[in-house]
Amino acid sequence: MFDGLAYSHVEMDRAAQSRTDPDWTAARLRRPDTRVIPMWRDRCLLTGGTSIVVTGEQGQAAASAAGQTALLGLADTTAVFAADLSDLSEAEAVAACGADSTADLRTLAGALPGPVAASAGYARGLLYWNRHSRYCGRCGAPTRSGHAGHIRFCTGPDCGRQLFPRIEPAVIVLVESPEPEPRCLLARHCGAGEDRYALLAGFVEIGEGLEGAVRREVAEEAGVVVGDVTYQGSQGWPFPAGLMVGFVARATDPRIQVDGAELQEARWFTRDEVVDRIQAGPGSGPVDSIGGWLLRSWVRVRSVLR
Ligand SMILES: [Zn+2]
Repeated sequence: MFDGLAYSHVEMDRAAQSRTDPDWTAARLRRPDTRVIPMWRDRCLLTGGTSIVVTGEQGQAAASAAGQTALLGLADTTAVFAADLSDLSEAEAVAACGADSTADLRTLAGALPGPVAASAGYARGLLYWNRHSRYCGRCGAPTRSGHAGHIRFCTGPDCGRQLFPRIEPAVIVLVESPEPEPRCLLARHCGAGEDRYALLAGFVEIGEGLEGAVRREVAEEAGVVVGDVTYQGSQGWPFPAGLMVGFVARATDPRIQVDGAELQEARWFTRDEVVDRIQAGPGSGPVDSIGGWLLRSWVRVRSVLR
């Protein structure tokens, strides 16, 4: 169980100044103590059961086989790189870094120390962005990687466009009912299983503030108007490029009118019902997401007040 927010606490100096120097980066990559997080098409490469980091000869081999490396930062004084083996087959990628298998990060996150899971998420997101930004959106020419994987430069004549990693912000909100002992709004999305309820969430649109996105999403999907909207916390969500921003909002009226397009059903749940759902497993949201964190926080706050 996570005490905090998964994927959000990378315990590294990102070395933003040093990484602009290609000689410094190349020298750090060659050092035998350098740690390398190899990835294959968004999947971690597992060594010895649970390790997702290789070093020494294995690290050098992973970096040599990679189509792209990117500096994540310095852990104390040791450089940590991500290495993208996606151009290889899965078997080739596993062999290239002496790994045993591949695995989706979200299936591992509960077993990994928080900062390790966060570093793997950072690696996943940065490599994904590089892999999906190989051409310039303005002139169509190929781009090349720079600043140790943190920028791409268009190679087209007379273009010179610089591409920076893109992050897609989304809001997620725990809506409380306007009652002395508030209940919370959980919704079942179209296509979701019979008992799969979750908090409301949605992407922020262009030209929209975060609080405005909360009000719009709740009104559009559940037909609920909210008053106060209060920031709770945020979570990097590199699946592939998200930033989840969590809020609590207070409804002005308990009536619900779901849109029928995104939501099949929404209803108010008491604190005790939320506790039951968390204890039962499903309904509390995946354990690594900010949705589950918001629900657990809400339950804890209410239990303290009682
Ligand atoms: Zn261009």
